[in-house]
Amino acid sequence: MKGTFFDLKRYAVHDGPGIRVTVFFKGCPLHCLWCHNPEGISPEKELMLLPSRCARCGDCLRACRHGVLSQEPDGEVVADHSRCTLCGDCIKACARDAIQIVGWEATIAEIVTEIEKDRSFFDQSGGGVTLTGGEPLLQAEFTEALIDELKLRGVHVALDTSGYAPEETFLRVAGKSDLVLFDLKLMDEGKHKKFTGVSNQLILHNFRVFDSKTQVPVWARFPLIPGVNDDGENLEEMADFLASLKNVKLINILPYHKGGVEKFRRLGRENEFVVFNSPTEENINGVVKFFQDRGFKAKKGG
Ligand code: SF4
Ligand code: SF4
Repeated sequence: MKGTFFDLKRYAVHDGPGIRVTVFFKGCPLHCLWCHNPEGISPEKELMLLPSRCARCGDCLRACRHGVLSQEPDGEVVADHSRCTLCGDCIKACARDAIQIVGWEATIAEIVTEIEKDRSFFDQSGGGVTLTGGEPLLQAEFTEALIDELKLRGVHVALDTSGYAPEETFLRVAGKSDLVLFDLKLMDEGKHKKFTGVSNQLILHNFRVFDSKTQVPVWARFPLIPGVNDDGENLEEMADFLASLKNVKLINILPYHKGGVEKFRRLGRENEFVVFNSPTEENINGVVKFFQDRGFKAKKGG
């Protein structure tokens, strides 16, 4: 059995307690218009251009037998992604590593080997491993097997999830983790559909059922996007919802940033994102205080 990933980060300090290894699963059932990891949306491997590394030499154009690549008048390389076969010839031709195929496969043993290299860091810091994406539960069988293996090895596992998975799958797999980082974006169903592509009903249902049936601690993760979910109505509804649960230990306020914009462009998906305003420090502190005033432990960042 193999999983598909798009990144593995070491020394992560914002994805749960302590120093962590964060494993990014490729593929997500949501399509958030503010996504800062758009290379995690598609479950398939993808061609990604890295223009900041490009010398505009044109070697990749000559290497591609499928006419995918061309150069703008200023020399910038652009791709017709729909014609790319992911053969990798352009990558071999590029001396600057300015083209990548995003997405790689690995077995449980291979991922665990990578994770074990950092054991001393997470053992000493009270850290562990965070499984994120994308959405790990889109590869539920692999995620479950990886959690089982990590638990056998005494590694603390946090599962970062959108909550969008069949109830039985969610309860079974999330229930094996030590901590759930549960993304909560919008309480209004219509707005949730508009901005993420899916209804929030399954997500809220899973959150409620998981809270009632398990003792697993949860950190609620709230991506703060001005004009989308920072209004009083959404905040009040979110606070009421979270106050009705017993296992929510912390609320992480994650300020929107525009890091995903350039990545959407590099993947040839310019039409699939929207640029929002970043929240000011005043906005962020106001939202942190809003939740703290209602008795929650809340902080900026993960
Ligand atoms: S991966 Fe292959 S088909 Fe795609 S752009 Fe590169 S050379 Fe062309
Ligand atoms: S081969 Fe590499 S450096 Fe040269 S134009 Fe293509 S992407 Fe840029």
